[in-house]
Amino acid sequence: MTAGAEVTQSEREAMRAALRDFVAAEVMPSAASRDATGEFPAAAVRRLGELDAMGIHVPVEFGGLGLDTASLLAAVEEVAYGDASLASIYTAHYLGLEPILVAGTEEQKAKYLAPLAQGDLLGAFALTEPDAGSDIASMTTTATPDGEGWRLSGSKTYISNAAEAGVTVVFAKSDRAAGFRGISAFVLPAGLPGVTFSSPQDKSGIRSAPTYTVFFDDVSLPADALLGEAGTGGKLAMHVLNAARIDVAAMANGVARRALHLAVEHATDRVQFSQPLRDFQAIQLLLGEMDAAVEVSRQTALWAGGVRDTGADLRRAGSIAKYVATENCFSVVDKAVQIHGGMGFMRESEIERLFRDCRILRIYEGTSQIQLLTLAGTLTARFDRDGTAS
Ligand SMILES: Cc1cc2nc3c(=O)[nH]c(=O)nc-3n(C[C@H](O)[C@H](O)[C@H](O)COP(=O)(O)OP(=O)(O)OC[C@H]3O[C@@H](n4cnc5c(N)ncnc54)[C@H](O)[C@@H]3O)c2cc1C
Repeated sequence: MTAGAEVTQSEREAMRAALRDFVAAEVMPSAASRDATGEFPAAAVRRLGELDAMGIHVPVEFGGLGLDTASLLAAVEEVAYGDASLASIYTAHYLGLEPILVAGTEEQKAKYLAPLAQGDLLGAFALTEPDAGSDIASMTTTATPDGEGWRLSGSKTYISNAAEAGVTVVFAKSDRAAGFRGISAFVLPAGLPGVTFSSPQDKSGIRSAPTYTVFFDDVSLPADALLGEAGTGGKLAMHVLNAARIDVAAMANGVARRALHLAVEHATDRVQFSQPLRDFQAIQLLLGEMDAAVEVSRQTALWAGGVRDTGADLRRAGSIAKYVATENCFSVVDKAVQIHGGMGFMRESEIERLFRDCRILRIYEGTSQIQLLTLAGTLTARFDRDGTAS
């Protein structure tokens, strides 16, 4: 899909270093106050565009860097290390961009993909509805043919970046009787009459990454708003989610790496019974488990990213990467809280924010249970086809 194979290790590491510097200087110092106020990090999002980080795997002809998935994962991990909220905005941007990259016409790519990849527009992806979460086929937002175009009615909820986005990919039923095969995808520029937003939803974590309920009141869409063929939107959504789950894995890995750093730092500084915590074997066992979990998760994401670059089916690799990284992240952050003792429960400590931020990772873009169901499905299909589970 991209020119990824030509990416050198040094190019990727140079990009990682640039983002690491940016995050340390311009993101981390204000992350706690944005968590408290819920302020959208507009300046940081703009800077990601200036740093050429908004279209890392998008081909150069469409304004991206044309790098491989490992480069994208490195970028997401660095951003998440400094601020999970910014990383959530960042991965939601890529989730909005991906359907256009995969299914857009040349005209749609020129119109939307290029400004997204250059950071001039922010992306969003609107699939979930109040009564259709894991079960997307039960969505009721409807796109009705109207002359040459369509009329869109219904609502979506928990949509990241919705009010800030310049482009949102919206999934709707163009054939209500057809279930999953009745879903179509549409690309919507900002500012269409009939599109309105709730206030930002009040969340436990990633508090400066806003989500909204979005209402579509008989919105008129031109014919060229349709992404791909009518009825292929469900398949497109699943294809894109399988890829994007690896980005969520990278986000989890960035958060887990930060938690590990904070745990070692605290275990070094905090003295009890006349010695630093890190000299107690019980603490060392926790640190060892955390280090192993972080490394396994990072290697798993890189493996899945390699599968993504081959263009192969990503159901299994995407689910494994997300499941392993997000469950490990939660466990690592929880252990880091434990190592902090009472301080880990205090709003003034960074690890307390990470504990709230990381919880969403096991829920969005397919819950952990949905990842396991996907894995069981691919496993039994393999068994039925090849007579083997390996
Ligand atoms: C902060 C945040 C940001 C989000 N951003 C976006 C976004 O940008 N775009 C978007 O479209 N959506 C977004 N979402 C929605 C998110 O993807 C969904 O919340 C998620 O997919 C789960 O759907 P649900 O909340 O309806 O839970 P449900 O589907 O109601 O699931 C509830 C529980 O039941 C379990 N469950 C469901 N079905 C099964 C089953 N068949 N077998 C076993 N267990 C099952 C689930 O694992 C879960 O534990 C966001 C959500 C949040 C909270």
